Amino acid sequence: MAFFPALDVDNADSDLVLAVVDDYSPTAIEEHHEHDGALTIFFSDPAARDAAIEAVRRAIPTARTTAREVDDEDWARRSQEALGPVTVGRVVVAPPWAVPDLPTLPAPPALPALPAAPALAALPALLVIRPSMAFGTGHHATTRLCLAAVQLLNLTGTFVLDIGTGSGVLAIAARLLGAEGAFGIDNDPDAVQCARENLALNPGVNRVRFELGDLTSPRSFDNAGLWVARGLEPLRPADVVMANLTGALLCRTAPALANAFAPGGALIVSGLLAEERDAVVAAFQPLDLVWEVEEDGWVGLGFARL
Ligand code: SAH
Repeated sequence: MAFFPALDVDNADSDLVLAVVDDYSPTAIEEHHEHDGALTIFFSDPAARDAAIEAVRRAIPTARTTAREVDDEDWARRSQEALGPVTVGRVVVAPPWAVPDLPTLPAPPALPALPAAPALAALPALLVIRPSMAFGTGHHATTRLCLAAVQLLNLTGTFVLDIGTGSGVLAIAARLLGAEGAFGIDNDPDAVQCARENLALNPGVNRVRFELGDLTSPRSFDNAGLWVARGLEPLRPADVVMANLTGALLCRTAPALANAFAPGGALIVSGLLAEERDAVVAAFQPLDLVWEVEEDGWVGLGFARL
């Protein structure tokens, strides 16, 4: 089991402590709200932690400091529990223990007989995602970029394909934002399991499915034919494809992704770094680049086939 070098600090002004330890590249900070001014600070190696202890003792002689090794699981669990809701436009992604009390929009009917009242369209779309090993709590810039991009589209009546669904966050959000249905695939069985569990945490959301699938396997990914061949819904090509992967994988699979959505639809990609941006845009050359945003060195791109 891995251990993380940590430092407990007590009896000192938290802001001052954080300013002092900042030079030693802390990897995470845990504030103990139940005990004012107490902090646990994590470092990537014991040397950095030990140097930070010296610095805190020098700068704040009254501070009580304790070096500690925190086991892997304990840290993962506790840092996850500290996670709160994330808001991107109308979308609010909340862990089960911090669901805000908001007037929210239920998932729309699959085939709306009447257009949604404009007032309803402004209500937040709240989804519950349990932080786990599956990527996609909303705390990473690339997830937020995809959530921002998809809100620029009118999803009413559309079918959304989410490739590399992780926690399922993008597929569930798309359905809440008006898509008629959403389908998430991932090549990691644990992610598919997590996505299904997350769907169950959102009982108002129907017409969302998660299946094991690999984007790089031509047999399992062949435009909409994939879903037809495997007897899965839906029997139509996607209107919107979302793929939050990596720059290298996007470049390699660009032809498949570019063919995965119907004309008039859109492709949203992220997971690429700013320095990979040009290569990814070039790989999707036949499509029109219609949206681009960078956050924390990560890039989100939106393509259309006009
Ligand atoms: N869509 C989520 C998760 C993105 S993380 C979000 O935006 O937050 C990327 C996910 O892609 C991971 O869950 C990973 O398992 C999956 N993935 C990586 N390679 C893949 C492939 N070849 N086919 C399908 N999924 C893949």
